[in-house]
Order: sequence, then structure tokens, then C-alpha cells
Amino acid sequence: MSITGLPPYDDSNIFARILRGEIPCRKVHEDEHALAFHDINPQTPVHVLVIPKGRWVSAADFHAGADDAAIAGFWRAVSLVAKQLGLEASGYRILSNMGADGGQEVPHFHVHIFGGRRIGRMVPQPPGG
Ligand code: AMP
Repeated sequence: MSITGLPPYDDSNIFARILRGEIPCRKVHEDEHALAFHDINPQTPVHVLVIPKGRWVSAADFHAGADDAAIAGFWRAVSLVAKQLGLEASGYRILSNMGADGGQEVPHFHVHIFGGRRIGRMVPQPPGG
């Protein structure tokens, strides 16, 4: 189920629990600002999530509240991870869902990295749309 609006940060969300080491993940990168790990339900041959280490619900929350070093460090990590995954030559897509219409399910800001094949249409049409 998608989240609505900008609810207060929920420390029990699944990515908060991964950050605290309470549940495992298939880590691909970690630094001061970001943790990257394989999506549990990959949509493409390579599907990795990158999350900031702070308590941010969504892109809007992160960009409004995080300090410049955290924002720069996070986005540098996204590009670094894509490079480490070998996606730079073939290309890839980065995407972040925000709120209900965006289809965000986990209320901790994250960026998806999709790669390993042609990703296809940027925005699929909804059924009946
Ligand atoms: P979103 O719809 O943008 O909130 O995406 C949430 C993503 O988190 C989905 O692609 C899920 O497959 C993924 N996900 C949920 N739980 C886990 C988990 N424990 N480990 C890795 N990925 C997860």
C-alpha cells in the first residue's frame, strides 16, 4: 500500500531496520551518507536501492531538511554505485517514488537504480488510462 503525504518518520519502517542492522540486506555499498543494497523483488536484471542514513520520509523531506553535505554525499553515492555495478556504459535509470500517486511503499527516502536491459517506457500508462 502506498503512503500518503509526508507522514512523520516511522522508525519501524523496513529500511530503518536495515540501517540498524536488525534485518539483513544484500549490500553493494556503504559510506557516511548512503547505504545501497539489492531490491528484494528486482524488476530488472540489476535493481539496487540507495538510501540516505538520515531519518527522511521522501525526496521532498530529504531535500528540504538534510544539510548540503548529506544531499551531495547521497547523490554522489548513487552515481558511484551505478558505476560500481558496471552500468555506466550501457546506461541505467534512477527513480524515486514519492507519496501515493508516486507509488511509494516504504516511507524512508530511496532511489531505485534499474539496469541490465533496456528499461522501456519512462512512464507506463495506468490500466484503462
Ligand atoms: P517504493 O515503492 O519506491 O517504496 O519501493 C520500495 C522497494 O523496496 C520495492 O521495490 C521493494 O521490493 C523493496 N523492498 C521492500 N522490502 C525490502 C527488503 N527487505 N530488502 C530489499 N528491498 C526491499
